[in-house]
Amino acid sequence: MTNIDRRAVIATGAAALAGAATQSTPTLAQAGPKHAFSVAATTIPIVGTNEVFPVRRIYCIGRNYAAHAIERGSDPNREPPFFFQKPTDAIQNVAIGQVADHPYPSLTKNYHHEVELVAALKSGGTNIPADKALDHVYGYALGLDMTRRDLQNEMAGLKKPWEIGKSFDHAAVLGPIHPAAKTGHFTKGAISLAVNGTVRQNSDLDKMIWSVAEQVSKLSEAFELKAGDIIYSGTPANVGPVVKGDVLLCKLDGLPDMSIKIV
Ligand code: MN
Repeated sequence: MTNIDRRAVIATGAAALAGAATQSTPTLAQAGPKHAFSVAATTIPIVGTNEVFPVRRIYCIGRNYAAHAIERGSDPNREPPFFFQKPTDAIQNVAIGQVADHPYPSLTKNYHHEVELVAALKSGGTNIPADKALDHVYGYALGLDMTRRDLQNEMAGLKKPWEIGKSFDHAAVLGPIHPAAKTGHFTKGAISLAVNGTVRQNSDLDKMIWSVAEQVSKLSEAFELKAGDIIYSGTPANVGPVVKGDVLLCKLDGLPDMSIKIV
């Protein structure tokens, strides 16, 4: 490499860093280096607008309904909330009125449904008090935290990360986001999931151990939350397996149904 080449590489590297730091400012981003290739941005449609919600991170809370905590083998009264993440591009958007094809993933023989309320943030911070937390919520969606249960359990048993059980392609299914300005905040209301017309999960948001406000507050102690973060708020009891051909129908009081078919 010649000196000129080295200088060019260093300059390009610095510009790349500057570009990364300022990518939300279009005029500056245009002045920076071009991307070597394109990577699709992950977005979620917003009901009633032409806008989409840009996704930054996907957080999920574990064991947030007492009956589900018990079925997963923990004490619902004593455990603080715990969180994991799914990769942003694991999102599968499902339109209202659609039955979306959802691919049965590789490697698993025990693929589980978990119906959940999803909160979407328009702002964030650290150490957010619970009584201010809902100010950061832009809206809500109805989602499925799809899970390769056999792989999750196997890895947990080995005391290894259970990422492979939770963080795979299409693992974060959800309907469009409904602005809280129109729906209000969700603290109660029936939530259910049926498989081929038979109800399997059926509970109420008021059974959540940690409310959305408390989840935002607790999460912000561990991570700086930002606009674009979404939170899967935990699933009720009676999670269970699905197979190819099954049609899942998710319901939440106040939102349109959301449905997928396992293919
Ligand atoms: Mn879950």
